[in-house]
Amino acid sequence: MKVRKDVVDELLEYNREFVKNERYKEFKTTKYPDRKIAILTCMDTRLTNLLPAALGLKNGEVKMIKNAGGIISDPFGSSIKSLLVGIYELGVEEIMVIGHTDCGAQHICEEVMEKEMLERGIPERTIELLKGELDFHGWLSGFDSVEGSVINTVKAIREHPLVPKDVDVSRFLIDSHTGELTILDRS
Ligand SMILES: [Zn+2]
Repeated sequence: MKVRKDVVDELLEYNREFVKNERYKEFKTTKYPDRKIAILTCMDTRLTNLLPAALGLKNGEVKMIKNAGGIISDPFGSSIKSLLVGIYELGVEEIMVIGHTDCGAQHICEEVMEKEMLERGIPERTIELLKGELDFHGWLSGFDSVEGSVINTVKAIREHPLVPKDVDVSRFLIDSHTGELTILDRS
């Protein structure tokens, strides 16, 4: 635990200097995305700075929604809610769903994660109870291909009963190494 605390302490120390030196000034913007775009993509660490840099995006230009795999796992979950807030409250007119090469979420395995949960002290009974409540396996499993996953995600957004038809939803694939963006389908 000590090591983890040191890492957070380092961040806190940096933060104090950042504010003290008014470094925030270069990031000044509003809550409204200037380019009227929302991007749904993966939380992969390689994309944190690479994706905005490769697309020439600056602070304040897009709404960036991220999760493991960049997917819509629940039609009334937080990712779709974020997109709806972007559309209705913040002026989003176009949604880009961006999958990426070598996505770690593709290969996650429910059985393996369940074993790790048990080893980390989650009671077996809790897992069994949840299996009765939801599609535990489907929820915690990966997907066959990134392209297929992005198709499903775009479909879930386009066909969502609360997403207006005038919002464009397109799908892309970004190279996790070079940042090259490939158009898979653009409406
Ligand atoms: Zn990923």
